[in-house]
Amino acid sequence: MSVTAESLRRSGRYAVLNSGRSEFVQPRNLADLRRIMALDSRQPTPFRPAGAGSASTDCNTASTGTTIDMCALDDVLNVDAYNGRITVRAGARLSKVAEALAEEGMELEGSFDLPSRTVGGAVAGGCIGPSIGSEGALFGSQVLSLKVVTPTGKLLSVDSSKANLLGAFRLSYGMLGIIYEVTLKARPITGFNATHRRCTVDQLSKAAGQLAKTNVGMKFMLLPFRDTVYLDVRRFDSAASAGRKFGWKLKDWGESTVMPQVFRSLNTLVPMSGMRYSIVDRVSAMTQGIVSGRLVNSGSSSTAHARGGSDGTNFRYSTWFFPASDFAIVVKAYRDFCLRIREETGFRCDMPTVGYRLNRDQSAYLSPAYDEPMVALRAVSTPTSGWENFAIDFGEFARSWGGTPMFNQTQELDPAYARQVFGRRLDFFRRMRRQLDPDNRMMNPFLSQYFL
Ligand SMILES: Cc1cc2nc3c(=O)[nH]c(=O)nc-3n(C[C@H](O)[C@H](O)[C@H](O)COP(=O)(O)OP(=O)(O)OC[C@H]3O[C@@H](n4cnc5c(N)ncnc54)[C@H](O)[C@@H]3O)c2cc1C
Repeated sequence: MSVTAESLRRSGRYAVLNSGRSEFVQPRNLADLRRIMALDSRQPTPFRPAGAGSASTDCNTASTGTTIDMCALDDVLNVDAYNGRITVRAGARLSKVAEALAEEGMELEGSFDLPSRTVGGAVAGGCIGPSIGSEGALFGSQVLSLKVVTPTGKLLSVDSSKANLLGAFRLSYGMLGIIYEVTLKARPITGFNATHRRCTVDQLSKAAGQLAKTNVGMKFMLLPFRDTVYLDVRRFDSAASAGRKFGWKLKDWGESTVMPQVFRSLNTLVPMSGMRYSIVDRVSAMTQGIVSGRLVNSGSSSTAHARGGSDGTNFRYSTWFFPASDFAIVVKAYRDFCLRIREETGFRCDMPTVGYRLNRDQSAYLSPAYDEPMVALRAVSTPTSGWENFAIDFGEFARSWGGTPMFNQTQELDPAYARQVFGRRLDFFRRMRRQLDPDNRMMNPFLSQYFL
């Protein structure tokens, strides 16, 4: 916990929220959800909605209130291929949505990883992927309308006729109410080519300026200690096949389940860090070389969402976003930062850093790409000691390079810095939050640092 968070908690500012009980509930239908959130409900506040639980911060838990797990509300209600839209309950997993659409030859925009996350979590939490062409950076940009249970248990419908409200609900982290139904844009399945290259950090830096100007989709895996980057560049191509689901499933399973488990075992089996990290880097390089390089040379949003085996709970991560125009310098500085921290503290992340290029996206007030295209850097590690300190150092690094955070993915975020970065957009969001939740029924200590 950061010093700021620690002192805020000690200040007693949250006494009003602390009912001393903690409960976990899973509504099975809308009536259940309304009963839980009603003003006369016996459930302890604050209420915190949770989807698949893949956030890396405390945004989806209520240690002294009620965590509302939305995963049982997961029906696909309607696929309208003619008008290009799908309506689902918010607990539906992205893989289920992709399957329902694929039956009609349709797909969602953008190839977002981690198919096990929920639609509600992907809309209310920051969810990004390598956006190709003019695709939005945020999953939430595809939302046409939402249905919500407000913090006082009332029903609310939000669509583009209430553009301000829709922009606030995207990336609202469950503070404005619980989303129970979502209508998303869909399009016919559109193939893309995925070109894989291996390069050094300096080579990526040289190409970064050019890549920032083109609207190709870009994802990469960066191994700072091998000075190697595995680059995945995606372009729409009418001749490209939609790719094989098997390859994408294997890739998701390899990256989010097998690698973390192997690395965790190595932490116990190989105590000598030099030897352990040499094996870790070789396994990472092999996974990238074989799975990404050979099995997923083409795809579509539909195949990239294929059901994988990951529950996403095997590791720790923290994501920061940097202006794409600065990325040529930032990526080299990040490599040097990782080497320096290893030198000074002995800690290093055992998983590759994941990067994405994001198009400019103003669909949400708290969008990290609101002003310009950005590149995300997500540091990832299995849970080894030293991670928390690394996350603080990464935060300091990010601040010095003008990084932008996301409240569900960025650890150790200083509230003053968040206010500085989001400025008026944060003020506007806070005003809207106060109107919808004047009694702070959805506010836990973590979120209070930034939004109270
Ligand atoms: C293996 C792995 C891979 C990942 N890959 C990516 C990636 O490629 N790109 C990316 O951007 N992120 C990625 N993430 C981060 C994470 O998946 C996203 O942040 C995602 O949006 C969270 O979805 P979730 O269903 O797990 O929601 P949770 O983490 O449970 O919740 C996220 C936020 O949304 C709120 N919320 C959840 N449901 C609702 C609802 N129905 N109504 C209102 N609020 C709600 C919660 O309170 C919380 O604030 C990854 C994480 C892991 C573990």
